[in-house]
Amino acid sequence: MVDRQGPSSALQRAILAWYAENRRELPWRGETDPYKVLVSEIMLQQTGVERVITLYPRFLGRFPSFEALAQAPRGEVLRAWAGLGYNRRAVLLHECARVIVDQHGGSLPGDPAALRRLPGLGAYTVAAIRCFVFHQDVATVDTNVRRVVSRLLFGGTATNRQIDQAASELLPPGRGSDWNQALMDLGSLVCTAIRPRCSRCPVQQLCQAQRSDSVDSAPIRQVAERRETYAGSRRYYRGRIVARLRELPPGESLTPGEVLATIKPDGAADDLGWLTTLIQDLAKEGLVRITSEQEGWRVAMPD
Ligand code: SF4
Repeated sequence: MVDRQGPSSALQRAILAWYAENRRELPWRGETDPYKVLVSEIMLQQTGVERVITLYPRFLGRFPSFEALAQAPRGEVLRAWAGLGYNRRAVLLHECARVIVDQHGGSLPGDPAALRRLPGLGAYTVAAIRCFVFHQDVATVDTNVRRVVSRLLFGGTATNRQIDQAASELLPPGRGSDWNQALMDLGSLVCTAIRPRCSRCPVQQLCQAQRSDSVDSAPIRQVAERRETYAGSRRYYRGRIVARLRELPPGESLTPGEVLATIKPDGAADDLGWLTTLIQDLAKEGLVRITSEQEGWRVAMPD
């Protein structure tokens, strides 16, 4: 249990004062339009802030509302998602917009259970919507916040459950939006996964990881492991298939052999079985469309 009357109050004041001076200016910051908040949150789930800054306005320009997105063909949504990665999110966002238009009259529901039933919205995104759209005092515990809370209060060794509970208790009532963004910025600019800038940290004197000399450790290992495993992975080839299909003019398609030649130029004929499974999985998830022709099957962007 975090004592709000004791060190945590000093901690809250120090972090909010630091945030007032150092906050990042981001295109979605301060935004309360439900559609724009949702798009930014879905993009930020798995894409870096710098890339989202560039691609977010372009996507909103193409699809400015739930209605515009819901009415668009799936292939167009996937094309507009180019550069963001994890294309499954584009499908889920598209489905989510259709459910919101069809079942909620075009408005995001404020009820957490109804939000949770929308396609693509996990616990974090629901918390972010509640906080940034509906101004509820809910902790938004993303990777950055998790790391900050873990180091600050537990010396870097807490379980997710402990961190979630502590993050909720730490949130100053009435300041949820600023507080959550302050922790995110602190984690992004100061309490970074690799080489945190503790000497510039506003709460260095209150930090448990500093006291126990345990600032570096697990996060560094996790980052290195993630980098090693991406190239050549199933996710890598899934992304390359969708990227290749995106380049085609609408209505055109490729044979499996043509896909293989571009995503894996050194591929052999027996790679076609592996490729077929990948394409079938992508088709089940709505990311590609399999068409049948006299000469055999082909693959294209969804309609
Ligand atoms: Fe993170 Fe260092 Fe600040 Fe502790 S003192 S919260 S480890 S930046």
